[in-house]
Amino acid sequence: MTVSNTLRGDISPVLAFLKETLGFMFPACCAVCGKLADADDRFSQYDDFCRTYNGGPSGLHICGKCLSSLAPHSPDRRWMFCLSDPYEGDQLPGLPLYMPLAYDGTAKRAVPAVKFGKKPKLANFMGCLLGTCLKSDDVHADLMVPVPLSDARLKERGFNQAEEIARPAAAILGIPYAGDVLLRTRNTNRQTELRGKSARISNVTGAFGTSEDWDIKGLNVIVVDDVATTGFTLHEAALALYEAGASKVLCASFAGNRQALNPEVY
Ligand SMILES: [Zn+2]
Repeated sequence: MTVSNTLRGDISPVLAFLKETLGFMFPACCAVCGKLADADDRFSQYDDFCRTYNGGPSGLHICGKCLSSLAPHSPDRRWMFCLSDPYEGDQLPGLPLYMPLAYDGTAKRAVPAVKFGKKPKLANFMGCLLGTCLKSDDVHADLMVPVPLSDARLKERGFNQAEEIARPAAAILGIPYAGDVLLRTRNTNRQTELRGKSARISNVTGAFGTSEDWDIKGLNVIVVDDVATTGFTLHEAALALYEAGASKVLCASFAGNRQALNPEVY
């Protein structure tokens, strides 16, 4: 046994005690709005899932006010075409996009809270919502992959929010998750910082490739991002998957700023 293991073994009951005690002294705050939340505000379904998935409770708290405004759209309003504003020569016209929540209110606060507040557990919670919706809509696939972050952004943030959403969603759907199928072939600017369609298209055109370590020929793949607005990023990621031989690609995001009535899309 190493010294560090011995130490860890000796102090773990103390750490557990402190965690318990400090929990009483410093009540949890809502991961979305930051206001005080009590233990009852935990998303119990999510915690149950986390216990089996991660071997323990998430420790995540979301206040009742935020939780109550995270209701998904009705099933027939979760489907739309990926590109909100298709461009001429689009190679994937009719590419389906699944997004169960509107990108406003709590969902719109939660996304930056994940990215800039560095809260991967909140992203896991979003993944649970996405996975639960996909499952309830009876969506089947062979593989789930996240949109990758650039190395620079990954270094700055420490995690990829799309991965943290896709992993629990895949577990809920009961399909394999693969974080390294899609690759960024070059760095891109933040889509939200760009104005105009052409700037956003050229920012992500050809930005993705696939790893030679995977063979996805003939597979039905779901590609996941946190948010879809114009849809260009997911569209380019899907194109790379089709170029690698995927037989069918579904784009999925936790939330989006469009509402459509396209139940026939997928
Ligand atoms: Zn809140």
